[in-house]
Amino acid sequence: MKADVTVIGAGIIGVQTAVQLAERGLKVVLVDPGPPGGQQAASFGNAAWLSSHSVTPPSSPGVWKQVPKWLRDPLGPLSVRPSYLPKALPWLLRYLAAGSTEGKLRQTAADLRTLLKDAPRLHEEVAARAGVPDLIDAKSGLMHVYRDRAAYEADGLGWRIRRDLGIDCEEIGAEDLAMRQPDLAKDYRFAVYVPEAGQCLDPAAYCAALMDYAGTFGARHVAARATGFRAEGGTLQAVTTTQGEIACPAAVIASGARSAALAKQAGDAVPLESERGYHVTVRGGSNLPGPTTSVMVGDRKVVITRLATGVRCAGQVEIASPDAEPDWRRAEIMRTHLGAAFPELDVSEAEVWMGLRPSMPDGKPVIAKARGIDGVVHCFGHGHVGLVSSARSGRLAAQLVTGEAPEIDLAPFAATRFGR
Ligand SMILES: Cc1cc2nc3c(=O)[nH]c(=O)nc-3n(C[C@H](O)[C@H](O)[C@H](O)COP(=O)(O)OP(=O)(O)OC[C@H]3O[C@@H](n4cnc5c(N)ncnc54)[C@H](O)[C@@H]3O)c2cc1C
Repeated sequence: MKADVTVIGAGIIGVQTAVQLAERGLKVVLVDPGPPGGQQAASFGNAAWLSSHSVTPPSSPGVWKQVPKWLRDPLGPLSVRPSYLPKALPWLLRYLAAGSTEGKLRQTAADLRTLLKDAPRLHEEVAARAGVPDLIDAKSGLMHVYRDRAAYEADGLGWRIRRDLGIDCEEIGAEDLAMRQPDLAKDYRFAVYVPEAGQCLDPAAYCAALMDYAGTFGARHVAARATGFRAEGGTLQAVTTTQGEIACPAAVIASGARSAALAKQAGDAVPLESERGYHVTVRGGSNLPGPTTSVMVGDRKVVITRLATGVRCAGQVEIASPDAEPDWRRAEIMRTHLGAAFPELDVSEAEVWMGLRPSMPDGKPVIAKARGIDGVVHCFGHGHVGLVSSARSGRLAAQLVTGEAPEIDLAPFAATRFGR
C-alpha cells in the first residue's frame, strides 16, 4: 500500500490531521486498530469541553503536599497505583516541577493560549466544512461552579492568570446562578462563566464525521497497528504495521497515550504517561435534568456536560499502566458526584467508560518534526486539552508535513524540552 502521508491514530488529533492533509490534496492513510472515534480512544469519552481558557497545567505550586494522600487514597480525584509508582516517578517529579512556581504556570499558560485561542471558532469552521455543524456549539460558554466565593478565591491564581491573558470571566452570585442553572444542587452558590468557550455535542460522532469528510477527498482508514518505521539514510520510506508496510514519504504520530514507543523509534525519547480518566453518561434527550451550560464542579473536580445523547460526568486522574484493568469503583464515584450535583437526575442507569489522557508532565503536547527520521512528525501528548486544541494541532501537523510555516511558534511544544 502507498500513501503521501500515513497518520498513526484515529483519535481526534489523528482525524483533524487527516482532514487538513486531505483538504490539501494529499493521499492520506489513517491507521488504527479501532474505528475513528471508537471506545479505544480518549477522544470517544471526554467531557466535550472546547475550553479555550484551559491554559494552566494540571499541577500547581504546593501540590506536592498532596502526594502522600494520592498514594493512600486509591479513590481520590488524583491517585497513583502504588505498584506503578517506580515507573511513574520520573514523570511525577517533572509534573510537580512544571507547576512549582507561579512563573512556570504563567509561562505554560501563555504557551497553551497560543494553541487554544479561538478554538471554538476553529471547530465550528471544520464541523461546517464536514457537514456536521450541529455537533459544535461554539457559543455555549462554560461555567465553573463553587460552593461559595471563598472556594472560588482558593482557586484564585488560575483565574488571575486567565484574566491577565485577556480571558473574560464573569462572576455569578447565588441568585443569578439558581436562575441560570435551575437543576443544580442549591449547595452551589457561586460561579464563573467563561463566554468565549464552547462545547462539542458528541465527541465520538465528531471524530467519525471528520474521518468521513476526509474520506470524501480519498483518505482511508486501515484497521492495523503501526509497529514502527522503515528509513533509509535517515529518510522515511514506510510505516510498518500489523497488516504490512505503507510506503510513504511522511507520517504523523498521533497515537495518543501510546505514542512514546513510536516517537523513540523516530529519534525522540519523551516523558509521556497516561492519566486515566472515567465517565458516566446517562442517556436521554434534552428533557433530562442537568446543566443548562456545562459545568466544572469545583469541589468534586468533575465536569458535567449536556450532550446530544445525554448528560455526562467525566473526571478523575489515575496514574497507572495504560494496560491495567479499569477500576470501575471510580466510575461509581462519578455517578455519585453526578447525582449529588443534579439531584433530580436519575443516575441509576448510566454507561461507564475509562480512557487514557496522553499526558506530558507540563500539560503541553509535543508538536514537532522528529529528529531521527526525516518525514516523521509528532503530534501527541495533549493531556487534558486534546479535544479543544485538536483543530489547531491538526493544522500545525499538516503545516509541518507540507513545509508551510507553522501558524504559531512551536518552540514551547518541542520534543526536546525535557532534555535530549
Ligand atoms: C475523562 C476525560 C475527560 C476529558 N475531557 C476533555 C475535555 O472536555 N476537553 C478536551 O479538550 N479534552 C478532554 N480530555 C482529553 C482528550 O480527550 C484527549 O487529550 C484527546 O482525546 C487525545 O486525543 P488523541 O487523538 O491524541 O488520542 P486518542 O483519542 O486516545 O487516540 C489515539 C488513537 O491512537 C490509536 N493507537 C495507539 N497506538 C497505535 C498504534 N501503534 N498504531 C495505530 N494506532 C494506534 C489508539 O487506538 C487510539 O484510537 C479528556 C480526557 C478524558 C479521559
